Amino acid sequence: MSESAEQTEQLRKGLLVSVSGPSGVGKGTVIERVRMRIPDIAHSISVTSRPRRDCETDGVEYFFRSDKEFKRMMAKGEILEFDIYLNNYYGTPVKPLEKLVGEGKDVLFDLTVSGSLALKEKFPESVTIFLLPPSVSDLRDRLVRRGTETIDVIERRLLEASVEIPKADLFDYVVINDDLERASNRIIAIIEAEKHRYFRQIGIEDRILNG
Ligand code: 5GP
Repeated sequence: MSESAEQTEQLRKGLLVSVSGPSGVGKGTVIERVRMRIPDIAHSISVTSRPRRDCETDGVEYFFRSDKEFKRMMAKGEILEFDIYLNNYYGTPVKPLEKLVGEGKDVLFDLTVSGSLALKEKFPESVTIFLLPPSVSDLRDRLVRRGTETIDVIERRLLEASVEIPKADLFDYVVINDDLERASNRIIAIIEAEKHRYFRQIGIEDRILNG
């Protein structure tokens, strides 16, 4: 088996789940809730060139690296997929992911829309979830309520959302975040159902018959 085929085979063992959504939809909070409720699911820690916020720790939320280091990692094939968001690089490092999946772990990704689509292209059996607001006016209200952005930035994010939302058909699942608890429950239900797909349990009948 070639090295990359071996790598792909390795990555096939675990369930890979990515969540994307327009800015302000509440993705971070929903993901946090899902991780609290499924403590066994690992989180893919991305590499980013964006400056670290005071509340963040290198190696916890992200691996914070310089632009130059990020580009070096890309050139060496150490980044599975990447995107540029607000002038900063974000990418999924290959090595930690290989390790997690090699250990049989299921892995949750928090990715931009194009990041989820790239993951799906590389690993067709990965599961992509698109988190959406009930409406664009609801999204605007959330961004205004959050109060972290100027009206100008909010309008730019809404414009971006109007480009992203029509890509819903490219995702496996679409979840409306009308309520934090309900949205988290829906994502947990998707993960549970996906884990029970037969192709993720090949040989189960033999194990039962001979167990
Ligand atoms: P933030 O700077 O707010 O932490 O993240 C900005 C955006 O980058 C979020 O939409 C997040 O989902 C996305 N993101 C974080 N890590 C990655 C990654 O490794 N790849 C891609 N494609 N997007 C990422």
